[in-house]
Amino acid sequence: MIDGMSSLLLRRVGVVPLDGGPAADPVDVLIEDGFIAELGMVDRSHHAPTVAGDGRWLIPGLWDTHVHLAQWALAARRLDLAQTSSPEEVLTIVAQSAQDKRPIVGMGHRAGTWSRQVTVAELDAACGEVPVALINADCHHGWLNTAALDALGLPRRDTVVAEAEWFAAYPRVVADLEGAPTPAGYRQVLAEAAARGVVGLVDFEFSAPWSDWAQRWHEGCDLLRIRWSPYPDQLDSVRAAGLRGGAALPGADDRLTVGSLKIISDGSLGTRTAWCYEPYADTGDCGAPNQSDAELAELLTDGKRAGLSVATHAIGDRALDAAVRAYAATGARGSIEHAQVTTSQAIAEMARLGLTASVQPAHLLDDYQVTDRVWADRTERCFTLRSLLDHGVRVALGSDAPVAPLDPWLAIATAVHRGRPGAEPWHPEQAITAAEALAASVDGRRIAVGQPGDVALLAFDPLASDAARLRAMRADLTCVAGQVVHSNLPV
Ligand SMILES: [Zn+2]
Repeated sequence: MIDGMSSLLLRRVGVVPLDGGPAADPVDVLIEDGFIAELGMVDRSHHAPTVAGDGRWLIPGLWDTHVHLAQWALAARRLDLAQTSSPEEVLTIVAQSAQDKRPIVGMGHRAGTWSRQVTVAELDAACGEVPVALINADCHHGWLNTAALDALGLPRRDTVVAEAEWFAAYPRVVADLEGAPTPAGYRQVLAEAAARGVVGLVDFEFSAPWSDWAQRWHEGCDLLRIRWSPYPDQLDSVRAAGLRGGAALPGADDRLTVGSLKIISDGSLGTRTAWCYEPYADTGDCGAPNQSDAELAELLTDGKRAGLSVATHAIGDRALDAAVRAYAATGARGSIEHAQVTTSQAIAEMARLGLTASVQPAHLLDDYQVTDRVWADRTERCFTLRSLLDHGVRVALGSDAPVAPLDPWLAIATAVHRGRPGAEPWHPEQAITAAEALAASVDGRRIAVGQPGDVALLAFDPLASDAARLRAMRADLTCVAGQVVHSNLPV
């Protein structure tokens, strides 16, 4: 971050029209004291540090509204299993890695695409006494061997560790088997995000007290805006510190604030635990809720009483309906995270209640084949971005990193094109436009006088870019509160 710079002048930039209409001629944009102060032809003699935009394209800075930042910072040093397509492939890779005799944390395999359940015994056979924890791509279960189960104090078994038990065990996987990310590790992933034009993210890391972020902020991890978002286990500490939603964390400024209370109301498609009305074609059951209706309402009320909005994870259609009912009953506000399978009544209720749909379009790339197989009877109700927008639901895009990469351009491109590069789009009737996808990625901001100086300058017009160029988009310049946090251009 460049200190002491209270103003910045961007000369000749094209403001991308996020609300329809044609692009206007390039303008100058003056950012002063953290906010956009002037827009138009700024006096030639202005002395602010200046960037020659040369007709580049300006957008409000991007937000990723669903991130597990510590896990994303650790992802790069974990054994990468994302390219595997069978348990046997995973076992071969892990057996090789185990020859180093060091604990192994791997991630990215997709058990939900496999034709059989895995066992602990086969992992034991592959790596013996070396503790091994393999995190499924959806992060809803871990495949651990007996050495890892013992090391983490978990009961021995012959199946994976899933859902609530897994979320509770996860912090010990980090602490005991791999070590938490360093400040430098955080700074690196924040800088990589800034290079994509990201100015802010919502951090839903598990078991992460606010004091961790306050500390990290002072260790130089203060590049982007962060909304630290607690789970119910952190609520006491929020109350004890007198914090409410939107408040700056103690010792930080308004770039590091309290976000929503996060509640996980059901599981995932990949683990077959998302709660649905109709059974999964392969398991024959419907998933399950994590709470009763009364328990869910109590959690929402706790959040509301603490002055927080509430972000409720709901992937299956039955979980979504239950979550929406709980918001209606309690008057809590906030977002549904994922809303992967919708019903028309849930969409109507979300619009009526003003709930945000916080969705991760890139999950479509990972899930569409499994969806065709196990949710064949409801594919037209999955990733329904078009329907949500058409019914007036506010949509916010995110990645759920490390489930998908922390890259808003992948989310935007997938929301628009709904497929892998070169592939046929999957349910193209639910596609949204690039302008709509961008508008869903900027936390409601616009390039206008009085708005925060959170901007990203692009070499290409995102509204005139094909899928490949959208996916590959990077920022030439990114500012947070008027401070340059990434630049390829002379300032
Ligand atoms: Zn998540």
